[in-house]
Amino acid sequence: MGKLDVAAASVAVLAATVGLWVGQSSSLAPAPEPTTPAPAVPSPGPTTSPAALLPLEGESFVLDPGHNAGNAEAVAEVNALVPDGRGGMKACNSTGTSTNDGYPEHAFNWDVADRARAHLEDLGATVRLTRGPDGVGPCVDARGQAGVGATALVSVHANGSESPVAAGFFTIIVATPLNDAQGAPSEDLAAAMRASLEEEGFPPSNMVPGALQQRDDLGTLNFSEVPAVLLELAEFRNPAEAAAVQDPAVRERYAAAIADALVTLYGD
Ligand SMILES: [Zn+2]
Repeated sequence: MGKLDVAAASVAVLAATVGLWVGQSSSLAPAPEPTTPAPAVPSPGPTTSPAALLPLEGESFVLDPGHNAGNAEAVAEVNALVPDGRGGMKACNSTGTSTNDGYPEHAFNWDVADRARAHLEDLGATVRLTRGPDGVGPCVDARGQAGVGATALVSVHANGSESPVAAGFFTIIVATPLNDAQGAPSEDLAAAMRASLEEEGFPPSNMVPGALQQRDDLGTLNFSEVPAVLLELAEFRNPAEAAAVQDPAVRERYAAAIADALVTLYGD
């Protein structure tokens, strides 16, 4: 049966189904709209919010809160070597930095990622996190691979520069892409994050030109098969930023900036 014959047969089936146009079923014209008025449906009230209007409906994101609360106690497990994604090996994970008064990076990363998750879910997205609020690991290779099937992977960190004058955020992507997603799509993702963080009032790094670093030694990025960016949101040894990151309202602004960037890039 040729394509047109199939179409004609479909028209015939449809015609028979709706009980109209039976005598004209040999026509190759597109199936006519049924002329029977649609049954009346109650019109939705103004407070009903159709899910179809959510901008990130159908998108999924993996958020990767860097490090973990149990890493410091699990030295052997955390230091065990895993593939780095470029033929070498590196430590499974690390403890992360902390402010001079003891606020740990892993707690900041978790809280910002969890707040961003809430924003993204409100916008219609499906979100997976690579870890819970505490525990050990996961290793960097697993974190990078966790993005498979997602729209994008965002790894949330803060920096621990020894210089107390270092300030501001920066973004990291791979220097030498291992797949298409690690190239331009990751550059776009990093650019959207920088724009959104600046719009939210956070200053770009005064140490990293353009707030963009490109590295080949980060397993999380090397293993990603989807657009991926690692965010260093603040400098934990800078006194002003160390104080700010301990304010839940500031963490909420970081989370909002992350969600805004993803809406700008991937939203309808
Ligand atoms: Zn980190």
